Amino acid sequence: MEIKPFEKKIWLSSPTMHGDELRWVQDAFDKNWITTAGENLNECEKIVAEKVGCKYAVGLSCGTASLHLAVKLAGEKLYGMPKPNQGTLQGHKVFCSDMTFDATVNPVAYEDGEAVFIDTEYDTWNMDPVALEKAFEIYPEVRLVVVAHLYGTPGKIDEIRAVCDKYGALIVEDAAESFGATYKGVQTGTFGDYGCISFNGNKIITGSSGGMFLTDSKENADKVRKWSTQSREDAAWYQHEEIGYNYRMSNIIAGIVRGQMPYLDEHIAQKKAIYERYKEGFKGLPVIMNPYDEKNSEPNFWLSCMMIDKDAMCRQVRSDNKALYIHEPGKTCPTEILETLAKYNAEGRPIWKPMHMQPIYRSNPFITANGNGRAKSNAYIKETGMIDVGADIFERGLCLPSDNKMTAEEQEIIIQIIRKCFE
Ligand SMILES: *Cc1c(COP(=O)(O)O)cnc(C)c1O
Repeated sequence: MEIKPFEKKIWLSSPTMHGDELRWVQDAFDKNWITTAGENLNECEKIVAEKVGCKYAVGLSCGTASLHLAVKLAGEKLYGMPKPNQGTLQGHKVFCSDMTFDATVNPVAYEDGEAVFIDTEYDTWNMDPVALEKAFEIYPEVRLVVVAHLYGTPGKIDEIRAVCDKYGALIVEDAAESFGATYKGVQTGTFGDYGCISFNGNKIITGSSGGMFLTDSKENADKVRKWSTQSREDAAWYQHEEIGYNYRMSNIIAGIVRGQMPYLDEHIAQKKAIYERYKEGFKGLPVIMNPYDEKNSEPNFWLSCMMIDKDAMCRQVRSDNKALYIHEPGKTCPTEILETLAKYNAEGRPIWKPMHMQPIYRSNPFITANGNGRAKSNAYIKETGMIDVGADIFERGLCLPSDNKMTAEEQEIIIQIIRKCFE
């Protein structure tokens, strides 16, 4: 059967709107609350806090803003108020997820800290608690860990928490991709000392942009709200004792999020069905789907991903901005699959390129579970048996079209297209 390109593009993950969003946006117009305050914002904070089971959710302009203020709060708590013109983490190292979006780790740099990247594990594709423990042995003075749940899959939360407790470290939890996912029945975003979620356009639900800071501490919630609105003091004029930010969520954006909230569980169910169909459809191929702890966790299945077995990988090389491969019968690689999907008007994406491989972070320390830091050479890797898990998943993995508006029939065609890459 000849496969024709899709007439309508199949997206990786596009916004799914329902109409209710407009009602709340209209409500903001009707009441003329076209600003960073209003009923939508208050209501939205309330329903998100209820959903995740925390006391306070503070609406912000984006998930990155939430991560920044979370990291800043942690820095102040750990190291005190910084000198003028200095970040709260000045001179301090912070352990960070390595295979993630750079928004997870950039806030450490905003606060003048140094990110130390912790390698990934194969069970959930998140921070490896073994590598984290190793990092504390090398840098026992570190007191802050920034950890993300990739693609909506909860990481090894209990193990990471245990290691952090042992060393007295605080956790900033980046649940930007995992809103609605649970670990042992508890929502992600509530495990860290500070939780962050995002309503960016391609996330599980969206406000077009936006994010929230999650906490049980009234003091922290008040502080984040104050910082996010230019740090005004209680005075008749604009009085400032601290550096402020313009990070508050708009009441219009909050209206969109408010309208999306009732559909969160529906989106998760649709994304789960997509994941299950891929899993079924790839039976017999030398691949695995992005794995999760089936006993303890329920991901939100934001993106379905796959990883090709080592011996089914054709040759593939990637420079900083280009990729080449040589097709071999029975084998393929992410580049071939992504290029083939694009030819048929479907969008996939490489796995997040690990931070330790990024030009801006190449000189930062990187800790793996079984090697001593960054691999200097192939000879070093051979000698130590070091495995750079993040680099391996980046090399062999990819994100599949995961749009919840994709029909089962369309997905069946995607599966056929991918199967053909292995011929
Ligand atoms: C999207 C995302 C963010 C940032 O959220 P924004 O709302 O886009 O600022 C942070 N971390 C991860 C892992 C993300 O995927």
